[in-house]
Amino acid sequence: MSAHARRSGLGAGVLALSLALPLSAALPPITVRGRFVCVNSAAEREGSCPSERVGIRTANGRVFVFLPNDLAVALYADPRLRARELQVTALRHDGDRLESVRVRVIRDGRLYDIAYVCDVCQITSSVPGPCPCCQKELALEETPVT
Ligand SMILES: [Zn+2]
Repeated sequence: MSAHARRSGLGAGVLALSLALPLSAALPPITVRGRFVCVNSAAEREGSCPSERVGIRTANGRVFVFLPNDLAVALYADPRLRARELQVTALRHDGDRLESVRVRVIRDGRLYDIAYVCDVCQITSSVPGPCPCCQKELALEETPVT
């Protein structure tokens, strides 16, 4: 019963978010650098994290949590990105919740755009997973930002 209530609550939140889009677009974007963190959850040790608890911790210890349907939450599913240093440009909502606009990785002090590609089907996606065409796991591609 509580699981059902939580799902309903989440649905309502997503609806309110989409209705509030013109407002959220007016929020000034912020840029944070840090690494993924699973906030207040024991599930992180099992390699998973509830979508509403995926966040980012900056070098000085500041923690932001992403909105549950955020791009960054989808990227958290890729274990190759879990320990990476990231730069996230996002709209900041109430309660230090972030709505990602762009997520990049930092390597040797340089910024890289990330994309998921299937070289067989020439498909590019912003999120990890199987290729929608041939079901092969999409490859992570990092392109230096010039
Ligand atoms: Zn494919």
